[in-house]
Amino acid sequence: MARNTLDLGDIKVRILDDGIFITDAGNVFGESRKAKIRGAMHAVLVESGDSLVLIDAGFGPELPEALEGRYEIRRDKSLMDSLEEAGHSVEDVTHVILSHLDPDHVGWALNPPDFPNATVYLQRAALDEAREMPEKDGRRLAVPPVERGLNEGWCELLDGDTEILPGVRVEVRSGHSEGHQIAWIGSGDDVALFTADLAPAKIWLNPDLIAGVDTDPEAARKNRIEVLTEAEERGAPVILYHEPNDFLVKVRSADEKGFEGVPIED
Ligand SMILES: [Zn+2]
Repeated sequence: MARNTLDLGDIKVRILDDGIFITDAGNVFGESRKAKIRGAMHAVLVESGDSLVLIDAGFGPELPEALEGRYEIRRDKSLMDSLEEAGHSVEDVTHVILSHLDPDHVGWALNPPDFPNATVYLQRAALDEAREMPEKDGRRLAVPPVERGLNEGWCELLDGDTEILPGVRVEVRSGHSEGHQIAWIGSGDDVALFTADLAPAKIWLNPDLIAGVDTDPEAARKNRIEVLTEAEERGAPVILYHEPNDFLVKVRSADEKGFEGVPIED
């Protein structure tokens, strides 16, 4: 079985599971390809002292109506089951970090909010972008719940790179969307990287792979190279949100493909 925990000094990281989505490749690569692709949703749980941090939040209890017919979810267990297996309840979560507002990243955090004691963090730029999206767009669906969260005090907007708590630092790396943030977990040599949708699966370790869903492909490419170079230099394990099996890898430069991911085994 693939390894799903990391010890980073005093910080323990667990990689959770919210099942698999299946969609036409065209929905991801932006061309009319008949092939189906599948992606996992591996949210990350960070245990640090009295804090319990969830980074990204899966598709949620059910597929949003706007995505019906285009996406299908298959799961034996959900993020909630996976959280329970890790020995925690929804009440234990103190911080939720959203990399961006696509529905496959915010589901359990916003619709409805499932973590009664948590503050949900996202970038102001991500909300601003979502407000400008067409009515039925996935990101636009997140605007009303985020606005409610801001009014009720359980949502907080960030303006750029921020240390959420010691050992959890978000960094804005746009391209897939505006205000898209990645997370560095731990410090010094004991550090791991959550790339979110900047490089969500092994094939994306190739910086030249341009996803049709990236709003700024050039920025995505530049950020992918910078971030993966830093991960390689620091020897940081990389957590790949949408990779079904080898979701925990070390990256190394590979001439033609940019980078390759080497699975970390037990
Ligand atoms: Zn995604």
